[in-house]
Amino acid sequence: PGAEGRVRLDDLPLRDDLRGRTPYGAPQLDVPVRLNTNENPYPPSAALVDGLAEAVRVHAGALNRYPDRDSVALREDLAAYLGHGIAPAQVWAANGSNEILQQILQAFGGPGRCAMGFEPSYSMHPIITTGASTRWISGARDDDFGLDPGRAMAAIEEHRPDIVFLTSPNNPTGTALPLDVIERVVKAAPGMVVVDEAYFEFARTGTPSALRLLPGNPRLIVTRTMSKAFAMAGTRLGYLAADPAVVEALLLVRLPYHLSTLTQAAARVALAHRAELLGTVDTLRAERDAVVAWLRGHGLAVADSDANFVLFGRFADRRAVWEALLAHGVLIREVGPPEWLRVSVGTAEEMAAFRHAMAAVLAAHP
Ligand code: PMP
Repeated sequence: PGAEGRVRLDDLPLRDDLRGRTPYGAPQLDVPVRLNTNENPYPPSAALVDGLAEAVRVHAGALNRYPDRDSVALREDLAAYLGHGIAPAQVWAANGSNEILQQILQAFGGPGRCAMGFEPSYSMHPIITTGASTRWISGARDDDFGLDPGRAMAAIEEHRPDIVFLTSPNNPTGTALPLDVIERVVKAAPGMVVVDEAYFEFARTGTPSALRLLPGNPRLIVTRTMSKAFAMAGTRLGYLAADPAVVEALLLVRLPYHLSTLTQAAARVALAHRAELLGTVDTLRAERDAVVAWLRGHGLAVADSDANFVLFGRFADRRAVWEALLAHGVLIREVGPPEWLRVSVGTAEEMAAFRHAMAAVLAAHP
């Protein structure tokens, strides 16, 4: 114990490989304009709220019982949403796609194994990997945040990773990968390939999903979430599509009854209201394209985005810009390469507030 008798983390018999690590930590600050965690800014409609409340009422009377351990009805609904001829046996659901990723690591990673991603990318991929006692190998993206297939192949050949992560559209850059690059990685990788499509619904029209590659590729896993386009981040519902054998593998590591009755019910109601929920996607895409043009018009570098956020820079002191925006009541995210910042796409009013604050900050920090 320290001098004041307070126990510090270092005093505990923590796993050696967790010592010195920092937890995932996007600040959750109560400010007027929150554009930092890529949420959908539109709250559920009154009709959806009624549907959710009714589902809770229906299921509340049976909460003395455990939930459906295999989420059968929900997986049927998710398979129907995904299309591409995907069967419910190919779908698996968990508490956010983060839990899906964790289950994948538990089943296909582990001590003596390694997983590889191409950075900058989603910070939870290495955190979940190392949390599962799996070695993380950081591959690099190109200067434009794309992925050169030759370079990716060489990295896969060199390290022979048990798991490869491809994030498309990528967080925090917004970059979508062409399907042929994904296909080449799937063919070359010796182990599992996880295509994280958390932001797929925001991709520009015509962008194909890696779901198309599932037939004949049993080591491919495509992950999705209801946290972004579906505007259900608070529900915690992520899912995957893969060969049914992959789902069998995850059954070995999932906790029994991991997905609560209320989560399953809420997700099904949201899927039934998908026309309304996904109706926000076009508006958000238009706001995204508008903010990209605005930032470029102000002389900034902006990564092309197929997601509901935009990476922009370059700032010698990005912390100063982040803090100045916060002083204007606008919270964005300090993430990605050192000179860049990421802003999530909010409502028209929120984006106007962002532009207003940004114009003031640029005038003060030319
Ligand atoms: N993948 C990517 C690329 C993400 O950006 C996020 C959310 N930030 C997730 C997965 C996890 O989302 P959730 O657990 O809410 O489904």
